[in-house]
Amino acid sequence: MTTPKIAIIIGSTRPGRSADTVARWVYDVATDRDDATFEVLDLIDFDLPMLDEPMPPMSGEVTHEHTHVWGAVIGAFALTEPDSGSDAGALRTAAVAEGDGWRITGSKQWITNGSHAGTLLLFARTDPATEGPRGVSAFLLDGDQVEVTREEEKLGLHSSSTADVRIEGAYVGRERLLHEERKGFTVAMHALDGGRIGIAAQAVGIAQAAFDAARGYALERRQFGTRIADFQAIQFKLADMSMEIDAARWLTYRAAWLKQHGHPHTAEGAKAKLLASRTAVRVTQEAIQVLGGYGYTREFPVERYYRDAKITEIYEGTSEIQRLVIARHILAQHEGRVAPTVV
Ligand SMILES: Cc1cc2nc3c(=O)[nH]c(=O)nc-3n(C[C@H](O)[C@H](O)[C@H](O)COP(=O)(O)OP(=O)(O)OC[C@H]3O[C@@H](n4cnc5c(N)ncnc54)[C@H](O)[C@@H]3O)c2cc1C
Repeated sequence: MTTPKIAIIIGSTRPGRSADTVARWVYDVATDRDDATFEVLDLIDFDLPMLDEPMPPMSGEVTHEHTHVWGAVIGAFALTEPDSGSDAGALRTAAVAEGDGWRITGSKQWITNGSHAGTLLLFARTDPATEGPRGVSAFLLDGDQVEVTREEEKLGLHSSSTADVRIEGAYVGRERLLHEERKGFTVAMHALDGGRIGIAAQAVGIAQAAFDAARGYALERRQFGTRIADFQAIQFKLADMSMEIDAARWLTYRAAWLKQHGHPHTAEGAKAKLLASRTAVRVTQEAIQVLGGYGYTREFPVERYYRDAKITEIYEGTSEIQRLVIARHILAQHEGRVAPTVV
């Protein structure tokens, strides 16, 4: 069965709007109670115009030419390649200078909204002599400049498109370069810093949905002549789930608040994503346990929450990478230096 794909656009002020980050994450949490896919589609789409908010490395850099390509189209963020996932700075898609622009050739993997994107924020190497992140630049491509080569079949998030795309000699003018040449990784990291808060909110929403379902079921299901909610073993599960969700939610709010008020939020966003994604996986697993056999069936939504939860530990940086980000920040902080960038 083909699941319908849903896109929504919040607000009508783009380009150039100033999003309220906390409000947005609250919205994410609320949305994910129903369907994580709904949120991930919106999240990726929403992250792109957020790049035109003032921010330290790009302030004043984004021109009208950049922003006017944002319209009522779905956006995609195209960083990952077959041989560069966590090590995103190793990407090989090449942008070769030609005239007053670049000709781009390469392939991108697992791009959310890849099949429907009207605009792609795509990262390519403009400096082949420089290996790693420093040779990378960020470009805005139109959807018809890429070819979808594969639609992924996934464990969860079934109504979200995850596609591989090929770029074969797509020409972009200088006005499609975002920020400066060789500063593309700064753009990517900035987007991921904010995006991770969104994934944390997504995870909190999934966990909350699973908790609500488990609590509701525990209060109705009767065994041994009483509600299963009367068994201490079930009560302790619900207590732990509730506590973990609260902790994840408050870390997420803190990171969102810091971002909204223009404070550094790299480590805080990583902490929020790390805890919230772990919470989502654990809580959805426990919710299945509370529902017993019904939890394992499609009659109840908790098996879907469980499948959807797992991706939050993987995309926008795996949990291992979040730990690297946090560790580098706390060590650098102790030594009074700036933490090196890591995906
Ligand atoms: C559904 C879905 C949607 C996605 N959407 C997008 C998108 O819109 N745009 C986009 O650009 N990408 C997207 N991705 C890609 C996603 O961001 C990557 O899958 C993720 O960053 C991990 O990369 P990888 O899968 O290549 O894993 P790898 O990097 O190969 O990692 C494999 C394992 O090794 C571990 N590992 C790697 N390096 C280290 C290290 N230094 N220290 C410790 N452990 C390490 C990882 O944590 C992981 O456990 C999506 C992926 C999926 C599945």
